Amino acid sequence: MSLNSTRTIDILFGPIQSRRLGNSLGIDLIPHKHCTLNCVFCECGNTTALTVEREEFHPYQEVIRAIDHYLSKLPSTTAIDYITFSGAGEPTLYKSLGKVLQYLKQTYAQYKICVLTNGTLFSRSDVRSDLHLADLVIPTFSAAGEAAFQTINRAHPSINVQMFTQGMINFTQEFQGKVWIEIFVIEGVNDSFEEFSQIKKSLQKMRFEKIQMNLLDRPGSEAWVKVPPLEKLQELKQLLSPFAVEIILPRAKQLPLSSTSTSTSTTANNNSSNTDTILAILKRRPSTLEDLCKSLQSTPKVMERELSKIESLLEITQVGAQTFYSLRSR
Ligand code: SF4
Repeated sequence: MSLNSTRTIDILFGPIQSRRLGNSLGIDLIPHKHCTLNCVFCECGNTTALTVEREEFHPYQEVIRAIDHYLSKLPSTTAIDYITFSGAGEPTLYKSLGKVLQYLKQTYAQYKICVLTNGTLFSRSDVRSDLHLADLVIPTFSAAGEAAFQTINRAHPSINVQMFTQGMINFTQEFQGKVWIEIFVIEGVNDSFEEFSQIKKSLQKMRFEKIQMNLLDRPGSEAWVKVPPLEKLQELKQLLSPFAVEIILPRAKQLPLSSTSTSTSTTANNNSSNTDTILAILKRRPSTLEDLCKSLQSTPKVMERELSKIESLLEITQVGAQTFYSLRSR
């Protein structure tokens, strides 16, 4: 099959400005929205294919051609802090993930690789070994008790919290790169001292550099998901001591977002294909005008004009003072 630009845009997106990773070029190998979980905070909407079957959703050779094509079009001034496997599904469901990482390391050794994963397939040795070439893996570990795990993550029936926790322990002990553990904190669900004490007990068996307490920043799958008060988060951070813990505040509670990157140009696309780039980003995550301006190095005025061209495809959601754009049927 010949590679056209539509196929390229289907698999790669950005670079986008990530709160945690700086300038992040996304690779999304999973069709919307195949996942082992159906998290209540998911910014990609509800899981439509709840599965634990690993598949080669896109043929490996097609993925490689798409990566080569996209990277060859990037302006030489573009700074990329990470190539990040993420998107609208669980990346470790891609059966040839290990081969893709190997290709990137051999061909584009200048780029660091990050994998954002929910960690539920770490109970499988083939998944753990597929990730061994990544520089950074960020798994999510938001609950140590079955009730909170099921309330937050709504897992595939074959997954329970014991096997998930043991998989996390095995992976973090075997993996040689960096691990940052994400705890997604939801008011009234996993923000009690009892739940966090249980989480801490499990974390004591894992190896990692730091913990990031993450909070709802974009419209999630369920409208009831709320951010705990800052004072509570500080107390929970204290409870996790002596681990290094970072609270990733939602933008509404932050000072203006500052970039960790020195990027001067970000997209692989010229103005004529800005629409494709915007669509590729919005397919994976709801974004504000400010997010899109940062990712495309554009001004609000130009971006508003771009968005007006695809107005009929957009869904607009208000979260506090923030206006988010997403695609109607992601
Ligand atoms: S947040 Fe991640 S793990 Fe959870 S449903 Fe969405 S894609 Fe899957």
